[in-house]
Amino acid sequence: MAAQSLYRKWRSQTFDELVGQEHVVQTLRNAIVDERVAHAYLFTGPRGVGKTSMARLLSKAVNCLAPDPAQRPCGTCPACVSIAEGRAVDVIEMDAASNTSVEDARELIERVQFRPAELRTKVYTIDECHMLSTAAFNALLKTLEEPPDHAIFILATTEVHKVPATILSRCQRFTFTRHGIASTAVHLRRVAEAEALALEEGVPEAIARASTGSMRDALGVLEQLASFTTGTIGLAEVHSLLGMTSAAEVYALIEALLDASMADALRAINGVADQGADLRQFARDLVERLRALLLLLASGDQALADVGADEVQLLASWASRADIPRLLHWIKLFSGLDYQLRTTPYGHLPLELAVVEALVTPAVAAPPASPRATATPSAPRATPPPARPRPAAPPQDAPSPAPRPAPPRQEAPPQHVTPSVEPPLARAEVAAVVHGEDAAQAAPEPHLAPHSIPAQVPEQDPSAVEAPPPTLARPARAPRSPDEAAAANADFSVLEQIEHAWEEIKRDVRPKSPTVQALLHSVRPVDVEGATIVLLASSAFHKENLEKIANRRLVEEVISRQLGGTYGIRCTIEARAEVQDLRGKIREARKDDLVRAAMNIFEAHIVDIETDEG
Ligand SMILES: [Zn+2]
Repeated sequence: MAAQSLYRKWRSQTFDELVGQEHVVQTLRNAIVDERVAHAYLFTGPRGVGKTSMARLLSKAVNCLAPDPAQRPCGTCPACVSIAEGRAVDVIEMDAASNTSVEDARELIERVQFRPAELRTKVYTIDECHMLSTAAFNALLKTLEEPPDHAIFILATTEVHKVPATILSRCQRFTFTRHGIASTAVHLRRVAEAEALALEEGVPEAIARASTGSMRDALGVLEQLASFTTGTIGLAEVHSLLGMTSAAEVYALIEALLDASMADALRAINGVADQGADLRQFARDLVERLRALLLLLASGDQALADVGADEVQLLASWASRADIPRLLHWIKLFSGLDYQLRTTPYGHLPLELAVVEALVTPAVAAPPASPRATATPSAPRATPPPARPRPAAPPQDAPSPAPRPAPPRQEAPPQHVTPSVEPPLARAEVAAVVHGEDAAQAAPEPHLAPHSIPAQVPEQDPSAVEAPPPTLARPARAPRSPDEAAAANADFSVLEQIEHAWEEIKRDVRPKSPTVQALLHSVRPVDVEGATIVLLASSAFHKENLEKIANRRLVEEVISRQLGGTYGIRCTIEARAEVQDLRGKIREARKDDLVRAAMNIFEAHIVDIETDEG
């Protein structure tokens, strides 16, 4: 493939030239200097991160003629040159993916017993070694059990879990990591300069971002760009080649979010949509920047944020205006859009909704399982709770939250709402306690130790995809179990989503397994227990079949993708008797139109339900 020639050409000839993987380089260098080279190495990691380049370097280092071991591989001695040119008969490079013929691989491996013809050490490099046939693996294993002194094996793989444990245990193992955006960009700039390619500002970073850690991909993109561009390679070319949206739109949206400017945010979205850009890519680009910002804020470590040189200053300026709870909220919102944007018939509507939601819904500052005292309403326009026998009012002695300057936007003092119309629930009264933006803002920072930010924040909390109701407030009369109420609300919110998406889920399953789809026709979601969806099956037959591991996995995968989180399923064939506990009542209450309306308007949770005679 032509696209690989720059990669080949720029393959590092010495350890110093190698980009990234410093931990591997250091260990191998020490081994060379101390003459403690192992007989077998296993290089694991994603594609394009330098495993085979490293194998070449090691092949040279163990054969290099430079007198000082610290200088090996020198890249210039006859041994180094013959290996670099692929002429060295003692350096055998196999790609197991294309060389799985039992005879070939096994024969090659068995020839290891012959001494090297020209060099000091015979080196066997087996790329994608997990693809070796069983016979070849056995030959390899036999060799590794009693390796001849004159040979070393370097195995490389992207799928280490497919390598037999017997082989693993005989290898010294190195894990190769993805290249960061900054280091990829630096390397691209170096290559471009040497190749006399002129790059517009920001181009190396844009390519680096798109190649997600693979130097081979990054150089391939650069080469393609060079082949159809005359003169300076601009960002426009990069974007059109890669279907990326211009960073300017992403920046504009982030600025608008930070300024809480709904109008600007919506304008940014519509600008992107008008260009006919790939909206999913736009959302991904957005999430990528928000994530970098979050990592920077949470850790204070620029390196962790991994942005290109073109964005370092920008990120710093954002960081001064951003806060962790809002970022968390936004990342959850926008990272959940991918699927919706793919399936929606409404164009960019999901993005618009997410933007509105990002700006009207306060960030949730803590998991709903820990209800917190409501901020005592102090704003002048706070109206007293309606005079009802059992109003849900905040405790008068509630500890005041730490004073914090009110945000300059969206003043919405706490409100206490009791639906004024008797809901048609059998003599039940729903006390929904609500609080608004400033209460959430006044809440303490969530417990986020810098190192506890999961890299995969976006996928963590599915409930956030559908506007999570703000933190539960505690009414004057403590509900029987606020934790239970909060958990029930969270569960049922998920259940409602899944009920809503059930037909779509079944449709999604079909192309993968019509059988599982058929099974799902006899099953319906009835409950949610945290991250487990409870499915009611119409018979033991359906339950058993659905619980077969492959079938279950498929359903779990589709549900998780649909809801934007990680969910398991559990099947039951017993219809649970209508629950009379709080959980059951909350489930019923949520089905009521008025209650739903109240919950939507005030972003409320149901905390308790009282009957009139109560
Ligand atoms: Zn050399």
